Amino acid sequence: MSRKRHEGPGLAVHPPVVYLLTLLPGIGLGFLRPIRLLPGWWGIVIGILLIVLGTAIVPPVLLQFRRAGTAFDPHKPASVLITDGPFRFSRNPGYVALTLWYLGIGLVLNSAWILLLVIVPVFIMDRWAIPREERHLEEKFGQEYTQYKARVRRWLTVRQKRLLVLFAILIAFAAWAYVPRPWSPGAVLETEHYVIRSSATDEQTREIALAAEIVYSGYLRLMDEFQRTVPPHSKLGIKLFRDRREFRRCNRIRGWAEAFYQPPYCYQYYSADEVHPYHWMMHEATHQLNDAAARLRLPQWLEEGLACYVSTSRIVDNSLHLGEIDTNTYPIWWLDSLELSGDLDADKKRGTIIPLRAILSGQGGPSMNRRFNLYYLHWWSLTHFLMHYENGQYRAGLGRLIADGGALPAFEKHIGPIETIERQWYGHLAELQKQTSRATPPVRLKARKQDLGRVLALCYCECSATVLTTACS
Ligand SMILES: [Zn+2]
Repeated sequence: MSRKRHEGPGLAVHPPVVYLLTLLPGIGLGFLRPIRLLPGWWGIVIGILLIVLGTAIVPPVLLQFRRAGTAFDPHKPASVLITDGPFRFSRNPGYVALTLWYLGIGLVLNSAWILLLVIVPVFIMDRWAIPREERHLEEKFGQEYTQYKARVRRWLTVRQKRLLVLFAILIAFAAWAYVPRPWSPGAVLETEHYVIRSSATDEQTREIALAAEIVYSGYLRLMDEFQRTVPPHSKLGIKLFRDRREFRRCNRIRGWAEAFYQPPYCYQYYSADEVHPYHWMMHEATHQLNDAAARLRLPQWLEEGLACYVSTSRIVDNSLHLGEIDTNTYPIWWLDSLELSGDLDADKKRGTIIPLRAILSGQGGPSMNRRFNLYYLHWWSLTHFLMHYENGQYRAGLGRLIADGGALPAFEKHIGPIETIERQWYGHLAELQKQTSRATPPVRLKARKQDLGRVLALCYCECSATVLTTACS
C-alpha cells in the first residue's frame, strides 16, 4: 500500500548519532577508569558475535525498504508500511541492529561503562524517537498500522527477550566472577626499590618490604655475575593483601594463584600460616625483576626456573643465599613425590621425568595443566643444575644462554648436547632430593623500622594510599 505524505516523524537527531554520542563518553570513561568485564578473549569473541548478528539484520531491512521504494531515513515520511522480512519479528529491526552493534563494541573493548550506558540510547529511542515514528505511521496508515502494532513487538518477541535476559544473566555472572573487587590499602610503604601498597599489618608490611629488598639485592648479584646491566628503572610496585581470603576476593580472575605478577604490580597476600611467609612473593618478585628491571625475555622453562631458583633460596641473616634450598617453599615440598629409580630412561618411560628436549622446547611433554607441579620441579631443578653442577661448571654458559634468549639451539650451543646434559641433570636432581630430606628452619624476618633503615638504607613512611610520599625522612 502506498500513499503520498509530506511530513516525516519529526526527529531532530539521527538515531545512529544517539548511539555514537553515548559510545564516545563510554570509551572515555573506560580510559579514565577501566572496568574490565570478562577475562581474556571472551569479550572479543562474544562482542564479535553480537556485531555479526547486528550486521546480519541490516541487509534484509535495506532490501525491504528498496523493494517497497520507501525512505530508509527515519527523518523522511514513509510511503509504504513494511511488515515483511525482519519486520515480522520486530517493528524496529534497524534499532535492534544498532543496539547489538553498540553492545558488541562494548564487549570487544571489554568496558563495563559502555555496556552500562546502553540504557541511554535505548531509553531515548524507546521513549522519544519510536513513539514519534509510531504516531507518524498511525496517522499515515491508520488501522493497517494499528493491526501490525498489535501483532508485532516494538523491539523483540517475548522469546527473544527471554534469550536476551539469559544472556545478560550469563554476562553478569562472568562479571561477578572476574571483575576485581575494590580494595583500599591502608598504608603505603616506600623502600629504596619498592612502593608497597598494603592492607596487612605494619609489621607484616615491613617484613615483606625487607624480604623484597633482600630478593632485589640477591637478584642484582646474580645479574652482575652474568654481566647483565640492570638499567635504571622506576620503583617496583607491590600490592600486599592482608590474608588469602582478601587476596582471593579481590582477584577472582586469578582464583588458582597464590600470588601473581601483572605489570606493573606484584600481587600477594601475607601468608601468616606458612612456615615461610614470603616464598610466593619472592617468586613473583623475580618475574617482576626479569620483566621490569633486567628486561629479560626468556622461554617459560628459564623464566619460571629463575623465579623458582630465587624463591627457593634460603634467607640467612637478611641475605639471600642463592642455591641453598629452603625446604618450606614451592615446588620443593613436592620433591619427595618424585619417585626416581636411578634409571633415567625407565623414569622417562614411566612419565616421572619429562625429557629435557620437551622441557626446553615446551613441546612433546605431558599436559602442563595436569602436571604443573612436575613441570615446576623440572624448571627449578634444571636452573639449579645449571647454576651449581660441579661447582658451577655451566654457570657462565647459563649467563650466555640468558643473553641469547634461552631457546633450545642456544642451549646446545652454550651448555652442551642434550643427551649428555640430561643425564648429568638427572643425577643432580637425585642429589637434590637427598639433600632436601632434612627440613630447613622457619623464616621470620625481624624488620623493625630502624632495622629497615639501618640494614638496607631504606626510608620508611606510612601514609594514606591517596597521598603517597615520595620523599621520606
Ligand atoms: Zn612463575
